[in-house]
Amino acid sequence: MDLSYILNQLGEDRETYRNAVAPPIFQSSIFAHTTVAAMRVGIQDELNNNFYTRGNNPTVEILRKKVAALEGAEDCLMFGSGAAAIAAAVVASVRGGDDVVCVQKPYSWTRTLLRDLLPRFGVKTIFVDGTDSANFEAALSERTRLIVLESPNSMTYEQQDLAAVATLAKARGIRTLCDNSYASPLNQSPIALGIDMVAHSATKYLGGHSDVVAGALCASHAIIREVFKGPYMTFGAMLSPQDAWLLIRGLRTLPIRMQRIAETAAKVVVFLESHPKIEKVYYPHLSTNPQFALTQQQMHGASGLLSIELRVDSVAAVERFCDALQRFLMTVSWGGYESLIFPVACVFPAGAPLHPPGGLPLSVVRLSIGLEDADVLIADLDQALAEL
Ligand SMILES: *Cc1c(COP(=O)(O)O)cnc(C)c1O
Repeated sequence: MDLSYILNQLGEDRETYRNAVAPPIFQSSIFAHTTVAAMRVGIQDELNNNFYTRGNNPTVEILRKKVAALEGAEDCLMFGSGAAAIAAAVVASVRGGDDVVCVQKPYSWTRTLLRDLLPRFGVKTIFVDGTDSANFEAALSERTRLIVLESPNSMTYEQQDLAAVATLAKARGIRTLCDNSYASPLNQSPIALGIDMVAHSATKYLGGHSDVVAGALCASHAIIREVFKGPYMTFGAMLSPQDAWLLIRGLRTLPIRMQRIAETAAKVVVFLESHPKIEKVYYPHLSTNPQFALTQQQMHGASGLLSIELRVDSVAAVERFCDALQRFLMTVSWGGYESLIFPVACVFPAGAPLHPPGGLPLSVVRLSIGLEDADVLIADLDQALAEL
């Protein structure tokens, strides 16, 4: 199935809605039946019928088919956020007494779920440095039920060898989950590498316009059915038809956005690497990245999220740089049409030291490259760096 077929055709039964080219937003909570027999069919399989919108909805179903195909998965569930997708995948996979092994420094709310919330229900998580697959092997036990991966992660971009971890897990009957938000489905295919479940914050590249919060979970029919009957239907963290429509619209331009973002990011990185006020650039696609061989092995292309460490001697200087940027918006999240910065310093109280013990320096700033001209972004960075 080629990419444009997935994005332009798959799941769209245009003849059933008067040949409208854009699908309608089926803004209906319920779907009526003409016979008891038809209603019986619907209630027995809410995942694949139009019965009640907490379970499935025609607009959402179009999106589910497209995202599943993009990930090479049998099926997909859409959620009201990426955090909900990850939590559902984890909760469906474990029970009291089980262990989870998770990569160090996952997305912050994934960490909170595993470190703070699940221990209340008897599920313990061991966090390991995922840059060496042997660390996973060492952490596994009889109790391990799930391995949670995020490759690359979204601040310093450490990666895990997905094929190696999948092989390790399969041999022991352990389920694997990979957060693939950084790469987008276009730049990395965890399911093809043997990973069981792939989660996305669809808020980021899939949506691409900073107007929707959404999540996706892709897996086999069997796993999706299990997640659906468990956390999906009970927690009710579904995606609204309106937001599904916005995501379908965003997806139409995913390949061209990702291509443009990768080209611009490459130019911005060349500028940053040669600038005397930049101590370090964090980006998976740099030949100086210690995991560059793994990048080439398992990623098909580049995204536009990178971090810089400024060569400064105070947090005040970091703030001067960030405050001086005109074209980069200062905020959380990433993956939209507009370039963003996220300063690590914002999560520390004013007056915190530049180098906190055991953590990232406060001179690290994350950049999300958008669709602006590279020259515009480089000029903006240049004038802000001149403040240092
Ligand atoms: C943003 C993000 C999430 C959470 O997604 P939401 O849509 O904000 O709930 C999960 N993982 C990664 C890597 C993210 O960047």
